[in-house]
Amino acid sequence: MALIVQKFGGTSVADNQRIRNVANRVLKAHDQGNDVVVILSAMAGITDRLIGLANEATKTPDPRELDVLLATGEQTTAALLAMMLKDMGYKAQSLLGHQAEVVTDCEYGNARILEIGTDRIKRLLADRSIVVVAGFQGVDIKGNITTLGRGGSDTSAVAIAAALNADVCEIYTDVDGIYTADPNICPRARKIKEISYDEMLNMASLGAKVLQIRSVGFAKKYNIPVHVRSSFSEEEGTMVVQEDSVMEQLVVSGVTHNLDEARITLKKVPDQPGIAAKIFSPISEAGILVDMIIQNTRATGQTDLTFTVPKADYKRAMEIQRQVAEKIGAEDVFGDPSIAKVSVIGVGMKNHSGVASVMFNTLARENINIIMISTSEIRISCVIEEKYTELAVRVLHTAFGLDRED
Ligand code: ADP
Ligand code: ASP
Ligand code: MG
Repeated sequence: MALIVQKFGGTSVADNQRIRNVANRVLKAHDQGNDVVVILSAMAGITDRLIGLANEATKTPDPRELDVLLATGEQTTAALLAMMLKDMGYKAQSLLGHQAEVVTDCEYGNARILEIGTDRIKRLLADRSIVVVAGFQGVDIKGNITTLGRGGSDTSAVAIAAALNADVCEIYTDVDGIYTADPNICPRARKIKEISYDEMLNMASLGAKVLQIRSVGFAKKYNIPVHVRSSFSEEEGTMVVQEDSVMEQLVVSGVTHNLDEARITLKKVPDQPGIAAKIFSPISEAGILVDMIIQNTRATGQTDLTFTVPKADYKRAMEIQRQVAEKIGAEDVFGDPSIAKVSVIGVGMKNHSGVASVMFNTLARENINIIMISTSEIRISCVIEEKYTELAVRVLHTAFGLDRED
């Protein structure tokens, strides 16, 4: 007998029929004698719809009240599943974030889980109840409802699995595993059997939204095996595990794309000590996260500085930089929200050279201009024009030998 945490994403609970399908899946594990804790997302599209409603209600929705609103999406599905399970003659109970004691910090809309009290869940499991927890939500120390950021139900699931010391955390979604690239844009993408926590952390941070990055962080820290698989088939999915248990280690194991960033350039900035601080301090004070930064020094004692910010913060960042440019005497500020970041990732890169040149040559052959480049030990990222995203992902996928053999 095992303790299994099963998480079902939005498409898996999109309507009552699919929730019934979830009930059957959950019961299968339960009837085999396992203890089962289920974490649910909101129905597909509901979180977006609630955000839309809030934006219609007011120009600047209050963050606390927005979280109260968004949490209702997951409250709905948790209640529906629990009532179906009860109706089928099983013991079950739904728990909201605060009832499951998912304690977070106070950062509305992007809260971090601090601790999880497991007494109530354990008591229910001891009674052979199926526990259904509303994902994506928690409670801060003052008792306010918080949410964990988009895709946050993954993190609810893995954090609860860690707190309960579960044997496995199963993430049920609309694809049957983690692929070498997003299968929705790269038809030749291959399903990966096993992937290390570190590679998945990189893939998630570089655009593979199949798992929220924080969930992978939890899985790594507490060594929780995560099984990503389809809600709609019985097929085995992908195991996310420790690096030393991954059998096959390729130089490049995946290609990702991220359309969530925008680029800002300050032209002809005086090349003096303290300038970078003047540019980036107001950005960080505004709570905007900068990703890539490039500085090019000109012979004339001036530099050009380019950096990327989340698209959602682009307008605010541009306004800030226009003021900064005036203060520091930069010649011009311009920006571009139509960019994409494509990345190749692989732990095998640590002891392999030549990956960068294959990447650059492959993009060059397709006449795709590289706007920015950044690298780490196990990945290389290039910023390109957004319109070339699919083409770039596909040709890189082929160039690194990742294409599925038919
Ligand atoms: P859920 O609602 O179940 O949480 P998500 O939409 O958050 O589902 O995540 C699943 C989606 O992630 C897939 O439909 C796919 O388009 C996308 N995705 C991006 N990169 C990958 C990848 N490398 N492997 C699998 N899916 C990926
Ligand atoms: N419902 C939330 C979202 O759409 C959380 C999740 O599905 O993981 O982002
Ligand atoms: Mg998701």
